[in-house]
Amino acid sequence: MRKPLVMGNWKLNGSIDMAKNLVAGLRKELSNDTACNIAIAPPVVYLDSVKHQLDGTNIILGAQDVGIHLSGAYTGEVSVEMLKDIGVTHIIIGHSERRTYHKESDEFIAKKFGVIKEAGLVPVLCIGETEAENEAGQTQAVCARQIDAVIKALGVQAFNGAVIAYEPVWAIGTGKSATPAQAQAVHKFIRDHIAKQDAKVAQQVIIQYGGSVNDKNAAELFTQPDIDGALVGGASLKADAFAAIVKAA
Ligand code: PEP
Repeated sequence: MRKPLVMGNWKLNGSIDMAKNLVAGLRKELSNDTACNIAIAPPVVYLDSVKHQLDGTNIILGAQDVGIHLSGAYTGEVSVEMLKDIGVTHIIIGHSERRTYHKESDEFIAKKFGVIKEAGLVPVLCIGETEAENEAGQTQAVCARQIDAVIKALGVQAFNGAVIAYEPVWAIGTGKSATPAQAQAVHKFIRDHIAKQDAKVAQQVIIQYGGSVNDKNAAELFTQPDIDGALVGGASLKADAFAAIVKAA
């Protein structure tokens, strides 16, 4: 039985005050015995203070990205060990915004996956097709390619204890979510694709849906058998909306 994960990705939003208010709101709205796991990924500069604000809750600390190096002359980078040091357990990698704006390749993202696993933390690997790829009928090919880069570099066992977030790029921040049936079809394809290599790994891997999830559409998405929670952008910035998504999972 997979326990869903609802994870909030704050992206480049927030301030000290905003983080305090948002966490206080989540503490008020949520009890500690939720049916799903919950994580929030604030901007890196707020991680340490948010960690302290989360004391006594069951909310996990996530990061939005990580570098591939562990230490040394890599100005501006943040290592997995540093994130681990301050209590981060889940790290988003391969988000479409990083693939697009930072030209991150499948192979580079697979390296990030590897350093996260090596540190004993949980990679949250974002995959998904653009609108043009969707219209060209390439959804499955794109998802398979993005997963296969990790399998090629690290083997299918790397997905043990890992999280995949299926995020169709055309649904991110657009208000145009995939329908539950559309998302389920791709989630099933992803699970079956991994199962071709190892059925046990495929059965336990968490596959979240991401892309304009909100308090109105979450419950129906979560009825689908292969949708194990959500990666939430915009709606994770409002405590009541994020809490409602958590309660729906
Ligand atoms: C995201 O950025 O991962 C995301 C899913 O954003 P939104 O929920 O705003 O579409």
